[in-house]
Amino acid sequence: MLEYLTLFLIVMVHEFGHARSLMAVVVIGFAGVAALIGVALWLRMPWFGILSVYILMNCWRGLQQARALLKLAKLPRRDGFACPTCNTAPAVGAYWVCNSCNQPFDTFLRLAACPNCSKRFSATRCMDCGRLHSMEEWASHSLMARA
Ligand SMILES: [Zn+2]
Ligand SMILES: [Zn+2]
Repeated sequence: MLEYLTLFLIVMVHEFGHARSLMAVVVIGFAGVAALIGVALWLRMPWFGILSVYILMNCWRGLQQARALLKLAKLPRRDGFACPTCNTAPAVGAYWVCNSCNQPFDTFLRLAACPNCSKRFSATRCMDCGRLHSMEEWASHSLMARA
C-alpha cells in the first residue's frame, strides 16, 4: 500500500503542470513525509525512514519546480499576442535565443527576427506550454480571445 502511495505522490509531483496545484501537492507531500517519519520513529522501522527520505527528495524537486513555475506566472506579459494552444500571453523580455548566433532577444518585440543576424523564425515557441506557432497565429489568436 505504501509503495502505491509513494508512486502516487511522485506521479502527482511530476505530472502537475500548474504551479498552484503543484504547490498544493508538495505541501500534502511534506505533511505525508512528516507523518511517515513519525511512524518510522515510533515503530523503529528503518524501511519507513528510507521511504520518507525518498519521498522528501521528490517533494523537494517538486517544490523547486513549483517555484520556477510561479516565477514564470508572475512575469509581465505582452499585449496583442496569445498562444493558440494554452491562451497565455508571451512574457516581456529577452527569453528567446537565436539558434544561429545565440543572441537572446524578445521575439515578440522583434516580430520573430534576430536583432543581431536578422535571421527570421517561422515559428515561436510558447514558454508556458512549449508548442510552436507562427507570429500570425500568436497575433490572430489574441484578437480572437479578446472578441
Ligand atoms: Zn502555450
Ligand atoms: Zn541571430
